Amino acid sequence: MNRPCLHDLDQALDRAEALCLARQVRLTEQRRKVLRLVWQSDRPLGAYDILAAIRQQQPKAAPPTVYRALDFLLEQGLIHKLETLHAYVGCPHPEQPHAGQFLICNQCGDVTELEDRSISDSLGDAARASGFQLEQRVVELSGTCADCAQEGQE
Ligand SMILES: [Zn+2]
Ligand SMILES: [Zn+2]
Repeated sequence: MNRPCLHDLDQALDRAEALCLARQVRLTEQRRKVLRLVWQSDRPLGAYDILAAIRQQQPKAAPPTVYRALDFLLEQGLIHKLETLHAYVGCPHPEQPHAGQFLICNQCGDVTELEDRSISDSLGDAARASGFQLEQRVVELSGTCADCAQEGQE
């Protein structure tokens, strides 16, 4: 994921708007604001970073406001939560519900989402085979991104 340009941001917000309209759910001003903050950031954003940014405009904003907006965005698949980082990233393809696999760079903190259904399907199958009731199947892999790996070689 490169630093998102404004074009990406507009596109992401337009797409979210259209999706919510089609699903007949409301992308309220607050939800839109939170989505914009997550997309604007070039790194995964924690709930408290989001709250701090919102408080610049609404000094009285309370954590539940942010958490409720995040829950909505998660439910609609517009963002993903990275448990290992306690942070959120925007999803570039929210049309289909999916778990997502993430490559997290330990050097620069960059996160790339992979979209490989077969990984998620085989994890689901393996869990089912052991009688395990799976709740979430987000996969988070840590390592070094291509850019950082190249820098290390120079
Ligand atoms: Zn996604
Ligand atoms: Zn990196």
